[in-house]
Amino acid sequence: MKATFPKYRSDMKGVAWGDLYNRFGRDPQDAAALEARVVALMSDDEVERKKGIYTYVLTGEEKWLNLRQFRNSEKRSAFERQKGVCPVCTETFPFEGMEADHKKPWRAGGKTTPDNCQMLCIKDNRLKSGF
Ligand SMILES: [Zn+2]
Repeated sequence: MKATFPKYRSDMKGVAWGDLYNRFGRDPQDAAALEARVVALMSDDEVERKKGIYTYVLTGEEKWLNLRQFRNSEKRSAFERQKGVCPVCTETFPFEGMEADHKKPWRAGGKTTPDNCQMLCIKDNRLKSGF
């Protein structure tokens, strides 16, 4: 993967390079385009696990980035604002029956800010996230 990521960063330590090489080593990669994405993600405060950026730009799997989560106080205030109503199914739930959702997802430029937080019932949140 050296040719794919020519710029050394200390965040590269501990990345499963052997596994990535087995999966992507034979596919031609646009090193300049990947580097541009790495640079942008390194300075994105929403990305809490910088080491995961290399795996993410190859796999597209957001789980590697540990994207910032809403704090409990932010979830609680969204819950109170919505009066416990899920905006998708319009049913009322207890706080424990709901999960925080980014109205505008991170990949579309959404941030982990109170105005971008809504509470969805567990079922609708999992459907939205594609589980
Ligand atoms: Zn719902």
